Amino acid sequence: MAQPAVMLGLRLPDVDVWSERVAVALGQNPGAFTGPGTNTYVVGTGRERLLLDTGQGLPAYLPVLERALAAAGDARLSEIVVTHGHGDHLGGVRSIRERYGPLRVSKRPWPAMDAVMGCEVNAIDDGAVIEVEGATLRAVHAPGHAEDHLCFVLEQERAIFSGDNVLGIGTTVIPAQGGDLGLYLRSLERLREERPIAIYPAHGPRIADGMAKLREYIDHRLEREREILAALADGLERVPALVRRIYAAYPEALHAAAASSVASHLKKLLREGRVESTESADPLEARWRLR
Ligand SMILES: [Zn+2]
Repeated sequence: MAQPAVMLGLRLPDVDVWSERVAVALGQNPGAFTGPGTNTYVVGTGRERLLLDTGQGLPAYLPVLERALAAAGDARLSEIVVTHGHGDHLGGVRSIRERYGPLRVSKRPWPAMDAVMGCEVNAIDDGAVIEVEGATLRAVHAPGHAEDHLCFVLEQERAIFSGDNVLGIGTTVIPAQGGDLGLYLRSLERLREERPIAIYPAHGPRIADGMAKLREYIDHRLEREREILAALADGLERVPALVRRIYAAYPEALHAAAASSVASHLKKLLREGRVESTESADPLEARWRLR
């Protein structure tokens, strides 16, 4: 899931080759939360390649995957790896296994979400290494957008498959369900420790300067936090009022998404003891002030 608006209208090719070991097949699921659709990656250099993420499970995707494998020298799939349990990442597992056989599916388990795949999960976690000819992926647990989220360092390129943590365009949504902005910021710092060159995101185009993008993402959130603290200091108390001030330059259609983003900031600040809330446990309904 990504921030809508800015990602609308961006088109990417259905099949593209981003490096000698990375081809991308677009999930055929464009939309408000997926931009041009989910990037699924065919990774490796040999006859057998692994598939990282599977799109949403739309019938139009399988022929695109077929073309990506053909572009990769008539490669076969060796196994499936999934970044996290959102439907536009694991929704394709079932139809891909129906088409290509009972491939192993590796991810960090999230039982409530994993059930739709209809197969056993090969449980992996931070530090796990998955190899295919020409490519070594090392898992980095990066919660915040989703609690089970793994990013993968592609060791041969010092690149990172970032899933939904960093996007090729726009910013990541921190969902009210399962999202956590504090954890998310920590995850971005953790990804910086890998000093990535390129980032291969789950939505949008290749990011050439991974370190600059991570810095930009962290700075963007810290700037929002400063704006929220300043508005509270000025006596604004409720989320809609904060949104009206901070997002004054944005179309009103975006204000609902903005409200959930402001709420995720307030929950983080509450946990840090920097703000307090009264009247409601729901951040969108509560009255907020600085502590
Ligand atoms: Zn997601």
